Formats: sequence, structure tokens, C-alpha cells
Amino acid sequence: MSDRINWSYSTVGVLRQCSRKFYFGHILANYGKSNKLKRKAFELKQMQNLSMWQGSVVDKIMETIIIPAIANKDRLDFHLFAEEAAALADQRFAFSKKKSYQEEGVTKTVAGDDFCILNIHEIEEAYTDSEISHAYQNVRDVVINIPNILMPDNKTLLIDFLKEANSLYPNVSNRQVEIETANVKPQIDLVIYDKKWKPVVMDWKVSDSWTSDYSKQLVIIGIVIYLKRLETPDKPPFEYEDIKLYEVDLLKGTVKGHEFTEEIVAEMIDEINLTSSDIKLIREEIKENNLTIEDFDTTDNQSTCKFCNYATLCSFLIQHKFQYDEKAYLKFIRDKQSA
Ligand code: SF4
Repeated sequence: MSDRINWSYSTVGVLRQCSRKFYFGHILANYGKSNKLKRKAFELKQMQNLSMWQGSVVDKIMETIIIPAIANKDRLDFHLFAEEAAALADQRFAFSKKKSYQEEGVTKTVAGDDFCILNIHEIEEAYTDSEISHAYQNVRDVVINIPNILMPDNKTLLIDFLKEANSLYPNVSNRQVEIETANVKPQIDLVIYDKKWKPVVMDWKVSDSWTSDYSKQLVIIGIVIYLKRLETPDKPPFEYEDIKLYEVDLLKGTVKGHEFTEEIVAEMIDEINLTSSDIKLIREEIKENNLTIEDFDTTDNQSTCKFCNYATLCSFLIQHKFQYDEKAYLKFIRDKQSA
């Protein structure tokens, strides 16, 4: 086994919540369709509730339409962008409703931006038509409100700040650094190089159920930007204060800055080192002892289970002596929802 592990803040969060949840999402889940249990864990890992669906649509529209339009200095028509967002929401809803993700030959790559698995379809969570129309309206409203968002100085509009930048890179996922035994490669919503070529990181907060600790997530991204710069000796290193970190709450229309200092960086690096040993240990234990799902305890924390994507599968496996049968599982879901 390689000494290095892929570390992410979300993996650590899941491991802290419940080791069985970690096993479902980080060991078992596999996109291949030959092993039905692994495939089901994969589908559940991708599953979104209605709030996450709205958020992911706005996130995608920022990445593919709004940020490129700002970078190209195109005319910005936020009413048009809002309609494009609603159209994408519609495409994703239809994809999920048809369960197209279960069709032969349909992969995430093939489905592209349409790929979506909603809990109301996959595990038949109850919903009302008014929740759906409210969700579409919310997507439109969030996009239309973007030109009103102010930076933390309460004077500069976010849009003007972005327009003045030297460069904008949405959805950056290819910056990897090594920190002790961990590979750290965060997904970054937007990297900006401002008027003075200093880096600014923005993370879109697009759902209440998204990760709660944006501060740490942003500090990790800041560390990656800082360390990557050290790999280009022809350029001067960044000072910590050069790197600005902003959490942009698109739902509330606010921008919050997060501190990035030497002390905060040192604390986060300690945390990465400590938690990467936990991930490494559990992975080694699984491999050496051939552990399977039944070897992992359930958590005692009911609220973790309540919001766990694998909750139905977890209960089903417990009731069926850890034997997975797709037909029986589907019946189990239906019986549960009609109870
Ligand atoms: S439902 Fe609860 S016990 Fe089961 S994997 Fe999820 S968090 Fe863990």
C-alpha cells in the first residue's frame, strides 16, 4: 500500500461522523454496474435533496455561464442567466425522474451537466408540487440577485470586483500539493488574480446543507495556493496576507472574508497531519483484515443518521443480514415511504 493518502476535509468530516458512512462512501461506492451493492452506494453518494439540487444548479451556472461572461467582458443579462439556470434545473430534474443514471452506458461523463440523482426519486422522499415550484423560483431569484451582492467593505459590488480582476478561473480542481503523507487537492469554486496579481479565492455557499465549516475549507485552499506558488521559483512567494479568502453566500447575497495567517495555517497543517493518519489507519485495517460493511459500527447520533444519504441502505442491510438484493431493497423503500 502506498504511504500517501488522498486527504480532503469532507472525508475527514464523514469519518468523524460515522465509520460505517465512511465505508459506504469512500470504500464501497463504485460507479461500475456489475456489483449492485457498490453501484447503489455510488448512486446514494451522488444523491441530492431539493436544496442541494438548487445549489448545484446555481454553482454550475456560475462556473459555465456567469464567470466566463464576466471574464469575456460580455453584456451581463441576469434575467437571461436566471432562465438558463431554471432550464438546467429542469434538465437535471427530468434526468433524475427518469432514473437515466441507471441506464446502460450512462456514466457521469456521458450525462455531463444533466447528471442528477434526487432523493425524491431515488429513495422516494415525499415532496409537494409547491416545493418544486418554490425551488425553481429560488434558483431564478438567487441568480437575479447576484448584481446586488456587496463585498465586505459594503461599498464595492461583487460583480465590479470580478470585472476588475486580471483573471478568473472557475471550478479549479487540478492544484495538488503534498502535506506530509497526504495529497491535498481541493475543488476550488473560483480563483481570481486581482488588479495587483494577488490571489483571491471564492467559495460559493449555495445550500444550507452544504458543508458548515467554510472557514477551514477556505484555509485549506489558501494553503494549496500558497504552496503551489513555492513550486515556481522564478516568481516571488506569496505572503500570507496576500491571499484573500471569501465565502459568498449566494442564497443570502452576502460575502464574508476569512482570515489567513501563519498561525491559522500551522493549525490547519497539524490537523491535516493528524487526520490523515486516521484515514491511513482505517484504510490499512480494512485491507489487512478484509473488513466489510458489517464490521463497522453504526453511530449513536440519530441526527447524523437522519441526514445520511445511506440511511435506507444501512437499515436495509441490517434487516437483511447484510445481503443486498436490489428487488427487495426497492420494495423496502416503497414500504418505508408508504408506512
Ligand atoms: S445511517 Fe447512520 S449508522 Fe448508517 S451509515 Fe449513515 S450515519 Fe452511519
